[in-house]
Amino acid sequence: MKIALLGADGQVGWALQRALAPLGEVLALRRVPSPGGPGADLAQPEQLVEQLRRMAPQVIVNAAAYTAVDKAEAEPELAHTVNALAPAALASMAEATGAWLVHYSTDYVFGGQGQAPHREDDHTSPINAYGRSKLAGEQLIRASGCHHLILRTSWVHGSRGGNFARTMLRLAAERERLTVVDDQIGAPTGADLLADVTAHALRQALLAPILGGTYHAVAGGAVSWHGYARHVLGWAKAHGVALKAGPNDVHPVPSRDFPTPAQRPLNSRLDTGKLRSNFGLVLPDWAVGVDRLLTEVLGQR
Ligand code: NDP
Repeated sequence: MKIALLGADGQVGWALQRALAPLGEVLALRRVPSPGGPGADLAQPEQLVEQLRRMAPQVIVNAAAYTAVDKAEAEPELAHTVNALAPAALASMAEATGAWLVHYSTDYVFGGQGQAPHREDDHTSPINAYGRSKLAGEQLIRASGCHHLILRTSWVHGSRGGNFARTMLRLAAERERLTVVDDQIGAPTGADLLADVTAHALRQALLAPILGGTYHAVAGGAVSWHGYARHVLGWAKAHGVALKAGPNDVHPVPSRDFPTPAQRPLNSRLDTGKLRSNFGLVLPDWAVGVDRLLTEVLGQR
């Protein structure tokens, strides 16, 4: 089986290169041509589809996206092309060829009201340009009629590139006091967990296409960014990492004290019951993945 993987060097794409390998031949594609493969630019949907047609994959996994949430406020058209029109073009190609499309979406499709975890069919009402572009992408994929899995996730951390835990460790090495928002609640989710869930779900969906659809895929439990920061610095302290700020030096502040170009939803909790029951999967608590990430980042146990 040929699997075309878009966004192969992103946080999730990188983990998918490993997790999808046992399922078939993974064609890892990046925005620009690389020694390993041709370029695949989602800002050019027609050329992208031409490129993919030549490869004739049975599965397209789209881990590429315009993910700069604040910048999207100033570039809504580019975000819409990459996050909605390109996935729609992939979906239409998949529908025509019988291929499966695996795509990722976000908790930002919800407005973030209330305290309850959002279910897949809850009302969507994105409050920023990124969320609107991602919601449009989902809707166009569903409307195409192609076999698809759309996995909505949140607060992704990966071993590659920058992430929240790394930022907290850096700031705690420089300062004695940190302030972190405590009114946005979600589930930090490891790119490796998401990639493994993708591979398991895809394998089952290929055997039982009725399993296709939209799913929430995040780690178990929920925490605020403030609680997340305290957890990171608590772990570092317990493992003897010398920092100027410890967990008790992280002070909570409301989001309104940290104005950003894009507004963020306060309630990012996602109910994962559908994914767990349809695919028989277990989603470990967010802290399991964060502790693993910290072990990798700090090289300690
Ligand atoms: P990253 O930002 O780490 O990776 C995105 C990838 O997309 C990069 O490899 C980037 O390549 C590529 N990309 C961006 N624009 C284009 C383009 N025009 N053509 C081709 N490739 C492009 O994102 P994640 O891995 O974290 O995100 C994976 C999915 O999960 C996305 O759909 C995202 O919306 C979703 N998601 C992510 C969350 C998070 O917290 N990160 C939360 C919720 C959902 P380049 O390096 O060249 O820019």
